[in-house]
Amino acid sequence: MKAPEISWTNTDHYLNIHLVKEDAALTAATASIQNTNLPRMEVSPTQGKFLYMLAKMNGAKRILELGTFYGYSTIWLAKALPEDGLIITMEMTERFVNIAQNNVEHAGLSHKVKFLHGDAVHLLNGLIRDKIEPFDMIFIDAHKPSYPLFLELALKLAKPGTVIIGDNVILDGELPNQDNQNPKVTAVRQFIEALSEEETLESTALQTVGIKGYDGFTISIVK
Ligand code: MG
Repeated sequence: MKAPEISWTNTDHYLNIHLVKEDAALTAATASIQNTNLPRMEVSPTQGKFLYMLAKMNGAKRILELGTFYGYSTIWLAKALPEDGLIITMEMTERFVNIAQNNVEHAGLSHKVKFLHGDAVHLLNGLIRDKIEPFDMIFIDAHKPSYPLFLELALKLAKPGTVIIGDNVILDGELPNQDNQNPKVTAVRQFIEALSEEETLESTALQTVGIKGYDGFTISIVK
């Protein structure tokens, strides 16, 4: 590990202890995948609490999450919801849905969480067809090459004031490198350009460092 990365990591641990104060259910959720070889795709504790804060600041009652993984961010977001709030979370991999369901149940939050298993594009189209009530917050954290399509569909499930977050958009700083035609990079570039052109959105992005290395997210609000 390079010196700045050691500093980011140590600082993140310090901030976790003093400010994040992860509860036992979140710690148990992370432990549920510790002895597996699954990639650590979840948000970090500081980022999880940041999502929780955003949901609270926005007074969110209905949240949509694309990409459940083992439910770490799902638990943070569900904790931010009032007792009658709802988070719908979509996940492609059945094994992850099962793990996440256990973790959410252990956290005592099952009554606020609806799990949808399957391809997010298919599931989103289903919600649009069903004319489901719009969401207050939408967290896009799934298959990167689908980000432009996820945004297009998410906008159909939003209303004025909806906060839309796109996770993991920095891709090691490759966005401005037009020579990089990796499908993840081109798709996220297209996603950012769509945010830029979408007249109903105000957007920005933040680069982050910490235990997950160098990363970042977009944040938008529907006008
Ligand atoms: Mg992510």
